[in-house]
Amino acid sequence: MTAKTILKKYFGYGSFRGGQEMLITDILAGKDVLGIMPTGAGKSLCFQIPSLITDGITLVISPLISLMKDQVTTLVQAGVAAAYINSSLTEAQIARALQNARAGAYKLIYVAPERLLTADFLSFAESASISMLTVDEAHCISQWGHDFRPSYARIPDFLERLPHRPVVSAFTATATLKVREDITSLLQLDDPTVLVTGFERPNLYFEVQKPKDKYSALLSFLSDKKERTGIVYCSTRATVEEVCVRLNSSGYKALRYHAGLPDSERHDNQDDFIFDRAQIMVATNAFGMGIDKSNVAFVVHYNMPKDIESYYQEAGRAGRDGEPADCVLLYSGQDVRTNLWLIENARDSGEGEDEELTEQLMERDRAKLREMTFYCTTNDCLRSYILKYFGENPLTNCENCGNCRTHYEVADVTAEAQKILSCVARMKERFGLNMVIDTLRGSKSEKVLRLGLDKLSTYGICEQSVHQLRAIMNHLILCGYLIKTDDEFPVIKLGGRAGEVLQGGAEVLMKLPKEKQAAKPENQAELVSASDGQLFELLRGVRLSLAQEQDVPAFVIFSDSTLRDMCAKLPTNQGEFLRVSGVGQVKAERYGEQFVEVIAEFVGKG
Ligand code: ADP
Ligand code: MG
Repeated sequence: MTAKTILKKYFGYGSFRGGQEMLITDILAGKDVLGIMPTGAGKSLCFQIPSLITDGITLVISPLISLMKDQVTTLVQAGVAAAYINSSLTEAQIARALQNARAGAYKLIYVAPERLLTADFLSFAESASISMLTVDEAHCISQWGHDFRPSYARIPDFLERLPHRPVVSAFTATATLKVREDITSLLQLDDPTVLVTGFERPNLYFEVQKPKDKYSALLSFLSDKKERTGIVYCSTRATVEEVCVRLNSSGYKALRYHAGLPDSERHDNQDDFIFDRAQIMVATNAFGMGIDKSNVAFVVHYNMPKDIESYYQEAGRAGRDGEPADCVLLYSGQDVRTNLWLIENARDSGEGEDEELTEQLMERDRAKLREMTFYCTTNDCLRSYILKYFGENPLTNCENCGNCRTHYEVADVTAEAQKILSCVARMKERFGLNMVIDTLRGSKSEKVLRLGLDKLSTYGICEQSVHQLRAIMNHLILCGYLIKTDDEFPVIKLGGRAGEVLQGGAEVLMKLPKEKQAAKPENQAELVSASDGQLFELLRGVRLSLAQEQDVPAFVIFSDSTLRDMCAKLPTNQGEFLRVSGVGQVKAERYGEQFVEVIAEFVGKG
């Protein structure tokens, strides 16, 4: 069977996505590969399809039990013989699974890295025919990745013990060069094909809000989400607790997740979320890598994360199924201070730590935080800001982010910039943003008068509102005309480019919103589902009862986008049902009748 046939037969898709075919072809030709593709790009099929074509077993190393469980359940649903071996099984179950594996019962076996070098597993592996070893979430091998797992480093020892070295394939969504190099060298990949696909996620809508009251902003965002599920990320456990309680009292079915909860509660809450029994997960960044749930419709950041990498990864948990999804960040200046505090205190262990290295790492973290802050304050396209950060050359207008959808006009703020810069110079670069603004606006506050700032020639020379001046100053920081220090009480200083404006007469242009309110984002998901909403809800009902019968998450039966394709194609017999994207042979046989029946009845009624 060809890769294309398998794609349709087992997974129900008509065409490959970017990069998949190339990696599959190279794996089948016996080459090692390293696939770096964003979350939701479809990395799993890159090793699952070759595993079904080659003889022998594919071992998949995966870091988390929940990931293994989801993937194996999905595979079994699609009619693929797969199993996992991990600590969620009893010793007897493991022995039985290995026995089945020896007898050739599985094409794919998922294992945790810790298990590889155990006596039982080694004795199985040494005698079995293992044709491929796949390392999923391969960034776990690198200390530079955020989920470092020392046991990943022992994978090469395991490979050495095998009678024949299998093809090795590795996959991750982490794109930094350092991590990429670590994966290649530590896994000892043999002249691998390295594929890095674009980080663009066109179905994600990005927006930054700077609300006075974050909780009200969250409620207003949720008001048109109906039953769609999503995650609200908060930076601290205390905020998780607070937001979760408030959401529950506002009538939402929200659960909490953070490292301070007992294992059992975290586990139950994660399950309830994955099984669609709860609508909203309020969580710290501890909630993450184990989430393969494909129908997450929104990710709200209640606080700004520490860097763009974390933000894009967390926001990227929305819309894995390719459906339109919203990623909204609620920004406040306090978020910057919290993150700075965390940076200062994270590496305070002192003991034997190389001070110079510590300082270097802290400086790196502060630089990353600055870039994250710029994301929150820029008026330019948010998507292209992120993609540029990851080294791509995107279009400058995506038309699918809060900034592109707000009507801006380009304003000449040269005069204001000159006033601001000379005021900062006259204030001897010793004061924070608010004091500069107060002085420019001629405030009569006690502090301004006591410090004699009213004597400066720049006192009271601006008429703009605090809000406008703040926006212009943020823009000047972004452009390098001003610098905001990283101290606990940040001070505004002249930046390297200040001279261009003060002496050089350079023009300063910036985008300013025409109206106060950003145009309300059209929620595409809602539009789509509204047109055929009734049938969609019926099909969701069928899916839910099938999922409950088998005790599996609803999305492993069919994804939302598959249900939507049913609404579009309206299949009324088995042959038509097979043409729906996401319907493979086994699923068509198992579930076709029940969906077709509901659709036929619906169409008949119309
Ligand atoms: P990743 O591991 O890269 O984050 P997954 O392998 O979990 O992504 O795939 C994300 C989703 O995309 C899954 O629901 C999967 O079924 C779907 N998918 C993968 N390949 C295709 C394809 N060629 N066409 C349509 N959907 C696909
Ligand atoms: Mg994956």
